[in-house]
Amino acid sequence: MVMHTSSSQTSWFPIVLRLQDAHVLVIGGGNVAANKVQLLVPTGAKVEVLSASLTPELQRLSESGAITHVLADVSAHDVQKRLAHCRLVYVATNDAALNRELAALCQAANVPVCAVDDPAISSFITPALSIRGAVQIAVSTGGAAPVLARRLRARIEEILPAGLHKLAEFMQSKRLSLREHVPNTSERRQIWERFLDGKGQHLALEGNVQAAEQELEHLTQTQQTQGEVWLVGAGPGNPDLLTLAALRLMQDADTVLYDNLVGPDILNYVRRDAERVFVGKQRNRHTLPQEGINDELIRRAKAGERVLRLKGGDPFIFGRGGEEMEALVAAGVPFRIVPGISAANGCAAYAGIPLTHRDCAQACLFITGHARADGTLELAWDKIALRGQTVVIYMGLNMLPFLCEKLQEHGLPADWPAALVERGTTAQQRVFEGTLTTLPALATTHKVTSPTLVIIGEVVRHRVIPTQDIQ
Ligand code: SAH
Repeated sequence: MVMHTSSSQTSWFPIVLRLQDAHVLVIGGGNVAANKVQLLVPTGAKVEVLSASLTPELQRLSESGAITHVLADVSAHDVQKRLAHCRLVYVATNDAALNRELAALCQAANVPVCAVDDPAISSFITPALSIRGAVQIAVSTGGAAPVLARRLRARIEEILPAGLHKLAEFMQSKRLSLREHVPNTSERRQIWERFLDGKGQHLALEGNVQAAEQELEHLTQTQQTQGEVWLVGAGPGNPDLLTLAALRLMQDADTVLYDNLVGPDILNYVRRDAERVFVGKQRNRHTLPQEGINDELIRRAKAGERVLRLKGGDPFIFGRGGEEMEALVAAGVPFRIVPGISAANGCAAYAGIPLTHRDCAQACLFITGHARADGTLELAWDKIALRGQTVVIYMGLNMLPFLCEKLQEHGLPADWPAALVERGTTAQQRVFEGTLTTLPALATTHKVTSPTLVIIGEVVRHRVIPTQDIQ
């Protein structure tokens, strides 16, 4: 696992490097160099330390043959002639100018170099490491804040189970044989996940290899061939508003079917190697019809995939979750449903508009403003145009002038408060307050685009801008 929180524009690229038998040159023989050497020795690298003196610890390593010490005053010439066969170089003398000169030399020769404590002149940096057998956790802040990286590492270490190295060792020992028995990658992954979710994990953590083997065998024989579908609400756009259940399923899914409302910020949390299928509406292209989506969900689940149907907001609020659920029932495909924060809740909270209020709104109505194919929109206007209630309109932007007019026709005053929330909860959120009379013009003037939520009612007057940060 690599956590990376670089704030700079360019981002460092975390990899895990094999150093067995590779020459690694460490320049400097003080404590800083000794720290790096300690990390390097267990990798099987051929570590050469170039310096005029050594710490007692390095001295001991040199005497035991774990490292080679080249006794010399460090010079560019000495370094230059060694570069040809070096896989990596650490520069750790206590002379900053010399460090810079040597790092530049390595860079010019294209040899990866880490000048300790000086990321600006380094081509690689060493993360804060936590090692438990085969499991290595590296936390990097891209050199921005090493202290923070170490803090984070400490917090991660607190939650690591004690026998983690045994678990990793067990899984490694079974990798090849399981691959032979179960050639299909996705099935194999599912077996391991069931192993980790169940008692297998605990047995292996305790080092009870025999029982763990039996459990793995059992799981291999009782393989799930039927996949499932998870209808999951991803909330209105800000990843902070994902539920823990959504996050877990996003990490477990084989495939994700998502549409327009699910942006890259959210997709970022989906398991890296899950297949991503866009099924939303695209400009100038037809929407994949709902039946097409249903068929795709069913086809994939029947092929054994765990399919995540990720929807903006909540799946059961103008999300066609009901139709998908019915199709899955008819096809006999198992499914789960995870609610999400709907646009109404998210936008109201982030815009600071309460949806109900003791003083003025005892009810709140969610309606759709989406017109039929023939351009008409027929709603129960008498029930909508009421005082004492808030009306939230989803997909109401296109028909906004018509909607505002109808509500006035059916009894609401021309100065009845109303607001637009564009891209609510995200960093691009914009809120416009007006009335039934002014709202359509506000939308045009400010070039408001979808997704936008319309909130109508006296609650808009109670708006207070919240202090929460939107990232
Ligand atoms: N299932 C979704 C709604 C889908 S309908 C939910 O529960 O939120 C799509 C409409 O939702 C959009 O046209 C818009 O009116 C509204 N919407 C969704 N996300 C939004 C957001 N971040 N900001 C404003 N409106 C949003």
